[in-house]
Amino acid sequence: TAGAELLGVDALTAGYGAAPVLQQVGIKVREGELVALLGANGAGKSTLMRALSGLHRPVMGGMHLDGVALEGLGAEQVVGLGLVLVPEGRQVFPELSVVDNIRLGAFRCPDRMEERLEAMLDRFPRLRERAHQRAGLLSGGEQQMLAIARGLMAKPRVLLLDEPSLGLAPKVIEDLFGVLDRLRGEALTIVLVDQMASLALALADRAYVLEGGRVVAQGTAAEIAGDSALARAYLGAH
Ligand code: ATP
Repeated sequence: TAGAELLGVDALTAGYGAAPVLQQVGIKVREGELVALLGANGAGKSTLMRALSGLHRPVMGGMHLDGVALEGLGAEQVVGLGLVLVPEGRQVFPELSVVDNIRLGAFRCPDRMEERLEAMLDRFPRLRERAHQRAGLLSGGEQQMLAIARGLMAKPRVLLLDEPSLGLAPKVIEDLFGVLDRLRGEALTIVLVDQMASLALALADRAYVLEGGRVVAQGTAAEIAGDSALARAYLGAH
């Protein structure tokens, strides 16, 4: 029961120098949907996330959030509109405490800070146990939870998650997907890039498959998961 279109990418072309990395990419995300972006390493998924977040300037094409054009906006402005990236590699501040990392997510919207911090520590009990430790001492899975908590503090209308399971042990990945499932249940709109294609598809409403910077397939998660040729070619299945 997805709502109206909230995030859109139209004919987006982007690259680094001469070679295009994204070519004519089109994507739509409706309110409350979880959309998976799949594809091999180098397909352009991170570039798309960075373009949406104002961190990489595309060559051509459009991007919009709830009707507001995103092209040309800076990263801070994009966050202010509610498009929030949890970047690949977590990028927590290792010298700061866990709670200070979480507070940083709310730097643009510091209202009811301590109350919202408490709610976040309720959601992530492992972070509460380590609230006053330096973030650099957390495990990879805990740092990923911290990066998500920080992102949620920015009051996202759409949360972009870039490779959250990267480098994590299977049990930790299971916990992580449990967290994502809960966010999905709360009707948060999510765009998920993850190499764990079958887990991502189990959670997603719809999916896009990128290859060589182009969208080569799209459909409901069930359609993409059920396409055996696609699974063999792009999703790491055998
Ligand atoms: P991965 O899962 O490996 O991050 P991806 O699908 O997210 O893959 P991108 O990171 O978007 O892919 O990279 C797409 C292509 O752009 C790759 O060929 C990559 O080498 C190239 N690329 C990425 N960042 C840069 C950069 N800063 N300068 C030059 N080329 C880059």
